[in-house]
Amino acid sequence: MRQFEYIRPADVNDAVRILSGGGKLLAGGTTLYDLMKLRIERPARIVDINHLSDLKHYDSSGDHELVFGALARMSDVAADRRIIRDYPAISESLWRAASQQLRNMASLGGNLLQRTRCHYFRGGDPYACNKRDPGSGCAAIEGLDRGQAVLGASRACSAVYPGDLAAALIIFDAEIDVIGSGGERMIPLEELHREPGDTPHIETTLKPDEIIVRIRVPTTPLGRASTYLKVRDRESYAFALASAAVALQMDGDIVLGARVALGGLATRPWRARAAERLLIGRRFDEAAARAAGEAAVEGAKPGRSSGFRIELGARTVADALMIARQRT
Ligand SMILES: Cc1cc2nc3c(=O)[nH]c(=O)nc-3n(C[C@H](O)[C@H](O)[C@H](O)COP(=O)(O)OP(=O)(O)OC[C@H]3O[C@@H](n4cnc5c(N)ncnc54)[C@H](O)[C@@H]3O)c2cc1C
Repeated sequence: MRQFEYIRPADVNDAVRILSGGGKLLAGGTTLYDLMKLRIERPARIVDINHLSDLKHYDSSGDHELVFGALARMSDVAADRRIIRDYPAISESLWRAASQQLRNMASLGGNLLQRTRCHYFRGGDPYACNKRDPGSGCAAIEGLDRGQAVLGASRACSAVYPGDLAAALIIFDAEIDVIGSGGERMIPLEELHREPGDTPHIETTLKPDEIIVRIRVPTTPLGRASTYLKVRDRESYAFALASAAVALQMDGDIVLGARVALGGLATRPWRARAAERLLIGRRFDEAAARAAGEAAVEGAKPGRSSGFRIELGARTVADALMIARQRT
């Protein structure tokens, strides 16, 4: 086993100070330990933040915003009554992720920063992977590509961003507050994850010593008629083949507001603004939902075996919109 140093910082600033000398933060550990066992992550130092109360503050009762400390546990937020009633897309995205045991351990901050499930990334040394080992190539190009990204991929990398929560949060314009050696700043969640381009090993816009402190979601009447629909190979304990987070606000049959994002299909959480534009100001019916689904996957590029997920993505968006309509 590879040795590492285990550190419990005194507070968040101390954690930043320690992290600026290298290392990895430990929240629930459900991604980090997994990747360490696979020898994909090899931190010399682990900075355990679980006891830091600043990161646990969690308040879903606010009139202007919902506040989730980065250490809020997935299962607590999934079961929160206000979230279930006013933001079902957020609650459903959590319920449909992982298993109850994992959700009890896993934090929202860690969930946003989980790494891809691409087999060639997780498979380790036998496989070339530009994300794991920059410049080594990408085994998925000639390999099995059923689960690779159809949106946002580059020649260097087609690994899917696997998380469910991020898609549900970006439809509500969520923001994250981060702290690092350069001070505090806010990042719109939609700008946290990067497309791979030529540097797939740089996955987010976070600096190496920056810590997510909290996630904030502005309150909106769009929340109530929202849903997160996830299609997968089996109905539980599996990642999405395609998923959609959507929200609608209606005036009779006319769409006043619409939000659409895709999960499971792209290299990062994917807001589908073309689909939103198509819906807003128009009469909503099944044909409109179907057209929005098509618009959501605009520009998608099929691989040898992944093309079916483009149609699946379009239908998932359409079905999600029909569910959201029933909630208006
Ligand atoms: C079998 C299995 C099935 C799963 N299925 C799903 C699924 O269907 N859908 C889904 O969305 N997820 C799924 N997951 C992923 C799971 O949700 C994540 O592992 C979990 O959310 C990560 O949270 P954590 O607190 O355990 O993070 P950790 O493992 O502790 O950390 C993950 C990463 O985030 C960093 N980090 C953690 N907190 C912070 C912070 N505050 N600031 C900066 N960096 C931080 C860590 O350094 C690490 O790099 C599955 C996982 C497993 C093992």
